[in-house]
Order: sequence, then structure tokens, then C-alpha cells
Amino acid sequence: MSLKNRFKKFLPRTIFGRSLLILIMPVLLLQAITAYIFFDRHWEKMTSRLAFAVAGEISIMAEVLEGTDGEKQIGGLSRYAAQHLDLLISYAPGERIDTQNLAGSDIDWRRLMMVDALSAELETKVRRPFTLMIDSEEKWVDVRVQLEEGVLTVSLPQRRLFSSSSYIVILWMIGSSVILLAIAILFMRNQIRPIRRLAVVAERFGRGLDIPSSFKPEGAREVRQAAQAFLDMHERVKRQITQRAAMLAGVSHDLRTPLTRMRLQLAMLPEGPDVEALKHDVADMERMINAYLDFAKGEGGEQPVRTDLRQILDRVVAGMKRQGVDVHLEMDQDLSLLLRPLAFERCLTNIVTNARKYAPHIWVSAHHIDDGQLVEVRVDDDGPGIPEDQREEVFKPFVRVDQSRNASTGGVGLGLPIAREVVHAHGGKIWLEHSPHGGVRAVIHLPG
Ligand code: ADP
Repeated sequence: MSLKNRFKKFLPRTIFGRSLLILIMPVLLLQAITAYIFFDRHWEKMTSRLAFAVAGEISIMAEVLEGTDGEKQIGGLSRYAAQHLDLLISYAPGERIDTQNLAGSDIDWRRLMMVDALSAELETKVRRPFTLMIDSEEKWVDVRVQLEEGVLTVSLPQRRLFSSSSYIVILWMIGSSVILLAIAILFMRNQIRPIRRLAVVAERFGRGLDIPSSFKPEGAREVRQAAQAFLDMHERVKRQITQRAAMLAGVSHDLRTPLTRMRLQLAMLPEGPDVEALKHDVADMERMINAYLDFAKGEGGEQPVRTDLRQILDRVVAGMKRQGVDVHLEMDQDLSLLLRPLAFERCLTNIVTNARKYAPHIWVSAHHIDDGQLVEVRVDDDGPGIPEDQREEVFKPFVRVDQSRNASTGGVGLGLPIAREVVHAHGGKIWLEHSPHGGVRAVIHLPG
């Protein structure tokens, strides 16, 4: 599979999904860039600045305590620190610290950044051994600094090291994208509804079903144009079908009357080889006219109903068997479909009759394929077959394969065109293949 196809597999299939993707991608990209700039520049700088200030204060206090008698100074200093600097300090003379840095357990990345920044600043400013304790529950950070005579402990609230406005930026970023997407989804749904409706109606038309009268062009201008064009096309196709039927019916009817007259006159003539031949010709002409009429009638306005295809197949095959034809039938249990039963029976009859004309044995099968999305009907025979380059040609009206132009198979070349028209009107496909039995295989796919 090429890269392009593999990429396509992950693309959403619906227009809704695709437009959402088009919208989400730039938003996500923008947010990612913003987040990167924000964290890289702003957040880090803020954290180190705050740490810088705190470390400076601790270093001053350490200097003050170191320079004088620590125990005397601590009272005033701690009051001052608590009041003005938001720091709680204490002094333990004679103690020593364990210089291992105890960062505290399970702290998140945010606090880790804070601790890193503070210890970096403390290292450059205080220049004495120190420990850092951070408590994720209590929201306090304890810094213990080793002075010459004892240990200075400074407890500071984490808010002194952490700018809470950063949260607001993240919240705003997420919130704005969610609002944007919600509005987009809401509006896009309304834009896509008319397209979906048009698709459904077009599919119905393809299956030969009526278009609901409630269908009207709506939505954006292009969608409305497409819907209007579709409605115009629908009207034109309907008009053409009616005109074709009316014309052919008219011609056939007009021809039938003189033919009937001829047949009557022939019946009154004395028997003889010439009269016999004429009778034959008249019968041929009548048969042809009937075939034209059938073709002209088309689907004849028959409405599709849920039908069991098995019954139709049974009927067609039983008809053949009565005529002494060897037909094998094989089908799935449930073959209920939306069909025009009479038209479809005619289609099947045409195909099976063709097979009977040219072959001694016929195999008919009907199965669900593609996970039940399609029903496949196959008619195989072991006759002479049709050359590959003619298998499409024979679906054109009045086309017959040369060798079959003899009286015994005498058709007019309308059987397959009628069959194809019926199948198309059901939204299906029909084509001919080479059969493993040696002759022709006709395949019909119908939407299941
Ligand atoms: P026709 O009225 O002549 O049967 P069709 O449209 O049904 O017209 O078929 C067109 C031509 O296709 C036939 O004249 C015949 O030459 C060929 N054909 C159709 N079915 C078969 C088949 N099962 N085996 C051999 N040839 C066939």
C-alpha cells in the first residue's frame, strides 16, 4: 500500500469529520506553538526570577545571622521575615545538617522545576551547604542552611516560588479551543445536513425509488445549486422515459393492427408452402413487436417492495424445469430484498432463457457477499460462451453475437438490455464473465 493510501486510511470518511479535522489541526498546531513559547520562555523565566528573589532573601538572612550572635538576632529577624517576606525562620544553634538534598517524594514536574530553580539560585547566592524539602501536601518548602554556629531553617509558602497566573493561561487555551470546537460542530452540522439529504435522495433515485416530495434545495448556495441540478435531471430522465415508452407503445400498437389483419387474411388463404412461410414471418414480427413493447414499458411504474428473492428464483427455475431444462439452484437462507418483483423476475427469466437457448445445463446461485452488503446472483451455463470483447456489447439494444443469428435462437437482441435496465433501476450491477462450467456466467450484484 502506498504512503498516500495509508494516510488516506486514517482520514475521516465523512465531510463532517474532514471539516472538523481541517479546523482542529490548525487550532492544535497554534496551541502547541503557544504552549511551547509560553513554557519555554515565560514559565521558566518567571520561576527562576521568583527563585532568585527568595534565594536573595535567604542569603541576606544567613549573612545577618552569621555576622552576629545568631541567637540574639533571630527573634527580631523572624518577626520581620514573617511580616514582610512571608517567610518563617528559625535558628538551631549547634546543629548540623545532612547535606543530602531531600526533594521530597512524588512531586510533580511543576514543583520539580521550582526546586531546580531554587537550588540553582541558592547555590550561587548562599554558598553554604543547604537542604531543600518540599511537601506536595502542605504547600510549603523548607530550606535549611548550614551556618558556622548552627542551622537556619526557612519555611516559605510555595506560592512565593510559583506564579498562579500561568494556570489561567493554560485554562484559557483549553477553554477557548473547546468553545471554538463546540461552535464549529454546531454550525457545521447544519451546513452538512442538506448535503447528506441530497446524497440520500440521489441514492434513492439510483435505486429507482421515488424522491420524497418534501425534498427541497436548501443550505449553502453550492449545495442548493447541486440539489436543483439533481431535481432538473430527475425530471428530464422521467420525461424521457415516459416519452420513449409512449412512442414505442404507439408504434407497436400501430403495427399490430395491420399485422392482425394480415394474420386473419393468411388464415383464410388455402394452405401451401408460401402461405406457411408468410405465417411464420408474421408470427416473427408479432414476437418482435411484443419484445419492443416490453422494452418500452421499462419498469412500468412498479413500486419496490420487500420481497424474498428465493421465491422469484424458485419460480423462474421451476418454469425452466417444466420445459425439461436441467437447472441447479443453490441459495442462502434469507434473501429478503427491496425489489420490483415482476421486473426482476423478467430480468432473471431473460438471462436464464438465454442460457437455455445455448446450453444443456444451467447453474443458478444467490448468496450474500461483502458482510451482507450485497446479494450476488450468478447464472452459469456450459454453452459456447461469448467472446470476451463482445461481453459488454451484447448489453446494447439489438446487438446479437453473429453465430447466434439463426432461427433456432431467434431473439431480437433486447433480452440483456432489459435485464441491465432492471438491475440498474434496483441500484445494482450486471455483467458477463467466463463460467468455470465452460459457457457464460452472468453476475448480478444487488444492494442487500
Ligand atoms: P436475444 O434476444 O438475442 O437473446 P439478448 O440481449 O438476450 O438478445 O442477447 C444478446 C446476444 O448475446 C444473443 O443474441 C447471444 O448471441 C448472446 N448471448 C446471450 N446469452 C448467451 C449465453 N448464455 N450463451 C451464449 N451467447 C449468449
